[in-house]
Amino acid sequence: RSSAEALALAELPPVWVPDSSAAECVICDAVFAYLKRRHHCRNCGAAICDACSPARWPLWALPTSYTADTRFRDRVRVCLSCDDDAKNFQEAVLAGDANQAEAIYNRSGNVNLRTPFPYHEDRACPVHLASQSGSIELLQWLIVTKHCPTISRTVRGDTALSFAAACMHVDAMSWLVRVGASTVRDISDRELLLGALHAALDAHQLDPDLERRILAVNHAAEA
Ligand SMILES: [Zn+2]
Ligand SMILES: [Zn+2]
Repeated sequence: RSSAEALALAELPPVWVPDSSAAECVICDAVFAYLKRRHHCRNCGAAICDACSPARWPLWALPTSYTADTRFRDRVRVCLSCDDDAKNFQEAVLAGDANQAEAIYNRSGNVNLRTPFPYHEDRACPVHLASQSGSIELLQWLIVTKHCPTISRTVRGDTALSFAAACMHVDAMSWLVRVGASTVRDISDRELLLGALHAALDAHQLDPDLERRILAVNHAAEA
């Protein structure tokens, strides 16, 4: 499947279950009535009651097409099922558990791969936390299979590559650069870049003089 197709599918807003076919809450089976109002989950479109949709996600945690008609609110109602899936998915990605992450994604059908996690204060996306975990299997699934973009930055300006560098995941860094998902320019923090370079040299037991020569070339280029 092409990346354009994957993007179009990911951006397709949920279909709101019509009121006529939703007599009861899909989660607790309570029958909707005057005092049991019907609501819709902004993430999956299911008809749910108030008790089964206590979570409110910030707009940035959903694809923009899902919230096109909610310009005047900064948070939207989400059902318990979507909320649990998002939390469990974040946990699996952070743990670098590719099997678990894929299983949650496939079972749910409503996990967003291209938007930040609703409860991550720096607004990290799955590619960021996959890099933080260092799991190449997970990066492969997100970037190659699911066409997730790697140019996105968190609110702190961090990229997939800088997350991997901060955690000294040398193999993940190599993979990101080798498949063309990242470039060294993705790390704007020079100390972080040098730290990662040290880690790479240690990991691959390269000639320690190489780093000095690289730095000398760098300084010459800047002079
Ligand atoms: Zn309910
Ligand atoms: Zn939902």
